Amino acid sequence: MEFEALTSSELAAYLHRIPAVNALLGDDSELEVVEVGDGNLNYVYFVSNVQVPQQSVVVKQAPPFLRLVGEAWPLTRQRMEHEVAALRRFGALCPQHVPQVYHADSELFLVVMQRLASHRILRRGLIDGIVYPKLAGHMATYLARTLFYGSDLFLDAEAKKEAARAGINSELCKITEELVFTFPFEGHPSNVYSEALPKAAIERLRHHVPLRVAVAQMKWAFMNHAETLLHGDLHTGSIMVNQDESYVIDPEFAFYGPMGFDVGALLANFLLAFFSREWHGRVDGADPRPYQSWLLKQVVEVWNGFAAQFLGLWREHENTGGANSWHFIGDDPSHECAEAFRAAFIRRLFADTLGFTGCKMIRRIVGMAKVADITSIPDAAARAAIEVRCLQFAETLLVQREALMGIEEVVELATATQLSREVDA
Ligand code: ADP
Ligand code: MG
Repeated sequence: MEFEALTSSELAAYLHRIPAVNALLGDDSELEVVEVGDGNLNYVYFVSNVQVPQQSVVVKQAPPFLRLVGEAWPLTRQRMEHEVAALRRFGALCPQHVPQVYHADSELFLVVMQRLASHRILRRGLIDGIVYPKLAGHMATYLARTLFYGSDLFLDAEAKKEAARAGINSELCKITEELVFTFPFEGHPSNVYSEALPKAAIERLRHHVPLRVAVAQMKWAFMNHAETLLHGDLHTGSIMVNQDESYVIDPEFAFYGPMGFDVGALLANFLLAFFSREWHGRVDGADPRPYQSWLLKQVVEVWNGFAAQFLGLWREHENTGGANSWHFIGDDPSHECAEAFRAAFIRRLFADTLGFTGCKMIRRIVGMAKVADITSIPDAAARAAIEVRCLQFAETLLVQREALMGIEEVVELATATQLSREVDA
């Protein structure tokens, strides 16, 4: 059967039939429906009471195809079930950072959720050079809590395996496996190169052996390291913010994967914003450096805040006997072994994070799905120069991920790459 998007009146009538939603919107009120989806995959609607516009919800529905491409790229609608389950799970762990689910329908593949009315997409805010004072702290908390509580460090072994089984999301994982880890490194027809990007930079992605090995290792980790329930697509277009609050939306790619994938996705997008600031920050003769420093500070604070809170949760649950982490280091009265294990764990997670950061940056430069931070640069030469720096930096992260000793070193590398005038890749 052909898919047809709901009409405004069908959607309004449907919402009035759901008591919880009807109560939120106003009993039998007149509703305005606006389709707002700027995303790549789904339909998103704002529905509000015409008389009392602040009584409003968001409806998101999954069509049986990838919206960006259309019916030529079919996708099963069951992806909405992963999104709903993840919104509920992450919402239970971090209610202050995840929109509340009011209603989910597994036949229409839609969800009705809290409307974030005074928030905007973080990527837009970063392009406009807005400072969000609480953002890094919020994201550190979101990452620490979601990544810790889904893992074997907290759940008992059986519950974790059951959660990993329920989280199998092969179809959307395949999109990531191809678009992030494979196609950008081949002459694949889905790649899109900006007009002035030097041929040498493209060739290097295909033929530089250490880079290809590193990317293959990251792909292996993505496919095999079922550590925790991930968001799976944690870029700055999946975060909505204002000066006081930060929310994470759009977890339809959720699955059990390596923790560093979510952390790396976020860092990659701050770094793409950092490198592209060289253009956006000079508009009207302004100085890009203050905001660039703020962006790098976010990289440091997200990582440090995440690591500290993650370790804090681990120790806390170990001490209260509420966690399973003692299975890994059993009898250890002085906690010396446990602390050494934790240090090694974070060290490995850091290297993973850098590897995924590199992959996520490269796919946004040469792959199919781009980011506005880069594509909104109208000057072809300036854009290519920024793209080359992103690729050089990403390659170093991937190849040197075990050798880079801390997040400060990563930030120094970003600054040095940014200052390098040589753009021969
Ligand atoms: P897709 O899965 O198609 O990428 P998203 O979940 O990213 O869809 O949503 C698309 C857009 O809809 C977002 O960029 C945002 O502007 C808007 N949006 C989504 N959820 C909400 C919400 N809860 N509140 C306000 N706006 C939202
Ligand atoms: Mg989206």
